[in-house]
Amino acid sequence: MTPPARLGDNIAAVDTPALVIDLDAMERNLARMATFARNHRVRLRPHAKMHKSAELARLQMAHGAVGVCVQKTAEAEALAAGGVNNIYISNEVIAPAKLARVAALALRLQHDGGQLAIAVDSEHGIAALADAMHHAHGAHIDVFIDVDIGHGRCGVPPGDPALALARAIAPHRTLRLVGLHAYHGAAQHQRDSGTRQATLARSAQMVRETRDLLIRHGFGPLLVTGAGTGTYALETASGLWGELQTGSYLFMDADYASNQHTADPPAFEHALFVKAQVVSRQGDRAVCDAGHKSHAIDSGLPTVWAPAGLTFANGGDEHGVLRAATPATPLPAIGDTVWLIPGHCDPTVNLHDWLVGVRGGLQQGFVERLIRVDARGALT
Ligand code: PLP
Ligand code: MN
Repeated sequence: MTPPARLGDNIAAVDTPALVIDLDAMERNLARMATFARNHRVRLRPHAKMHKSAELARLQMAHGAVGVCVQKTAEAEALAAGGVNNIYISNEVIAPAKLARVAALALRLQHDGGQLAIAVDSEHGIAALADAMHHAHGAHIDVFIDVDIGHGRCGVPPGDPALALARAIAPHRTLRLVGLHAYHGAAQHQRDSGTRQATLARSAQMVRETRDLLIRHGFGPLLVTGAGTGTYALETASGLWGELQTGSYLFMDADYASNQHTADPPAFEHALFVKAQVVSRQGDRAVCDAGHKSHAIDSGLPTVWAPAGLTFANGGDEHGVLRAATPATPLPAIGDTVWLIPGHCDPTVNLHDWLVGVRGGLQQGFVERLIRVDARGALT
């Protein structure tokens, strides 16, 4: 696909609709999270399902991340092809055909001086993984036991079920039990910081009991990995988690902007925008060329960053309907640029082939980087 801009273009020349990154804001977010992890002596393994880009994964690793997480085998393959050599598939993979790819990738990353890791939550999954690894001679894989700490998605219940999985992993020489995967997705978006704190306190208790039980039975040491942008300071403060998987912090989205934050952790800035253009003006409305093929709406519609004082209503696949929030607000004219903040960054990025990296702000900036969304649509 042709990118919507060329390197060196003035921001005015970026075609619409386009996904634009404010590189100055993104780099401040990058540094804030890296500094937090370093100061608190936890490993940072950002979730690359958010940006799906090898270039950004490598940038995060250049700033101290030990590697990245992905959710899908195909995402891991796309990032590895782009030079990322330390990848954790933080998800269950069951199909033998996919596990054969996982095993082949494990071998490839080892040859690159890196490492592949994966999550498991069943004896079925462990047996299938071991079978695939057996056929990739010389390959080994790091394994995290996925424990459900309250989210209610994948993951075995805390305690004995996790111990049973540790026992199922032990006989396989190609599988190396390295820790527990403990991620509470729903907690990330609980608006009130006190509610998030109470949720994570319960989760931490489950992690502590499970970790201690496994260690008592000789399965230590164990690294606990998890956390997202909404709660990472709580996991860190517990002293139990040794690795953070935050993803959205790099770009921020409108949903995360609705979270009530405490003074610590550091706040993150919006760095991801949809550049749109007004293509029609009718009565009390201006209509722009960005609909929900330009931005995901599962976590709500985008908000309008600029010009100020506009509301956004869904105009369907290709359109957004802008109205003035107060009678005093002027409506933009045909041809004017509108900047939107997507409701949810991860699925928004998945709609685009390119991220247009702009230096010098959204008013005067120029295109410094064209970043390919390498794992766009990599769903298998
Ligand atoms: N870890 C896992 C397993 C996830 O599924 C996600 C996102 O859904 C994250 C980490 C990153 O969370 P966030 O983008 O909220 O920082
Ligand atoms: Mn998300």
